[in-house]
Amino acid sequence: MAHIAVIGAGLSGMGAARRLVRADHTVTVFEKSRGVGGRMASRRVGDTVIDHGLPALWLDGGALSERVRSLPSQALVEISLPVGGRGEGVTCDSGAPPVAYRPGLTTLAKMILSDAGISPVLSARIAIMRPASGGIELGDEQGNGRGVFDAVVVSAPAPQAAELLATHPDGQAAATLLGDVSYAPALVVALGVDLPARPPWFGVRGGPDDALSWVGVETAKGREAVDGIVPVVAHLSPRISRDLYDVSEDTVLEVALPEIEEIIGESAREPEWVQVKRWRFARPEGTRDFAALNPPGSRLMVCGDATTADGAEAVYASGIAAANGLLAAFAGS
Ligand SMILES: Cc1cc2nc3c(=O)[nH]c(=O)nc-3n(C[C@H](O)[C@H](O)[C@H](O)COP(=O)(O)OP(=O)(O)OC[C@H]3O[C@@H](n4cnc5c(N)ncnc54)[C@H](O)[C@@H]3O)c2cc1C
Repeated sequence: MAHIAVIGAGLSGMGAARRLVRADHTVTVFEKSRGVGGRMASRRVGDTVIDHGLPALWLDGGALSERVRSLPSQALVEISLPVGGRGEGVTCDSGAPPVAYRPGLTTLAKMILSDAGISPVLSARIAIMRPASGGIELGDEQGNGRGVFDAVVVSAPAPQAAELLATHPDGQAAATLLGDVSYAPALVVALGVDLPARPPWFGVRGGPDDALSWVGVETAKGREAVDGIVPVVAHLSPRISRDLYDVSEDTVLEVALPEIEEIIGESAREPEWVQVKRWRFARPEGTRDFAALNPPGSRLMVCGDATTADGAEAVYASGIAAANGLLAAFAGS
């Protein structure tokens, strides 16, 4: 039985950790934030909850679908309202409806991990990986040793992964490959609005020239409007998010609210509450070949959305593939 560290508790880290635990290895998941889920993220606002990263899960029947659907929960919501683009009204997405979790996607992430008996070590940002007798030694940003592991899976977004991989001689090639994967940032504006009539859609996607790339209505996820106030989450486009990333919240709102008003109506002018969340690494602008990052026999594996552009299901599967790579390496040694 090997002792393996998984760095990051987002979708891909969860896929890797679960696969390794199921193969009877001991797994320690290190997560730099105070909670799990990574960009699959929700937060409480007053008496309600909003998903302020990935809006919902578009599943396609793979391992993540299987995992999500096997959770004993009435909290799983298949969103019945359409998602569409701006312009000639909203038309339905083709394919299966997106899935949401009523208490928020962070809670879903917690369940996926706890269901496999995994309790991540939170608020632990791994900053260094060193060769050590018997494996790879990890250290955190405070300079504390976090143990020696037989193998490590790195699931952080490419810029963070590259920095970390560069600290270990066996991680240099992957660090170089990942080093120039840029990520589009996302400014997310969440607001509570008094909507006289609920929109007949869950979400609207912007086109390439629009200021907003997404506007979603959280009540479509089976969450009640509290005192009639409907939570709405809007994403500024990658271009505008980049331009406004460092400006004040007031300036972000000056740009965002009139755009949101065009979609949901004038109640966006005076929201009951409003919040701005900044994601520096929201979505990768390129990918790197999984096999090139993870040569056979490697004990240092990389997964995450820098290895696939095919959505949440594929990101989760990249974690499973990283775990399978390690299992093959153990079997061959
Ligand atoms: C606003 C927004 C909208 C999105 N919309 C969509 C969409 O519509 N469709 C879609 O397919 N995808 C979308 N995405 C992207 C999707 O959320 C990601 O592709 C997916 O969640 C990535 O999972 P991951 O495991 O690769 O990375 P993450 O979820 O980023 O997980 C990596 C984890 O590693 C942790 N970490 C990083 N460095 C360290 C370290 N040194 N030590 C310890 N922990 C560390 C991070 O805190 C994080 O929790 C969106 C993302 C955002 C932010």
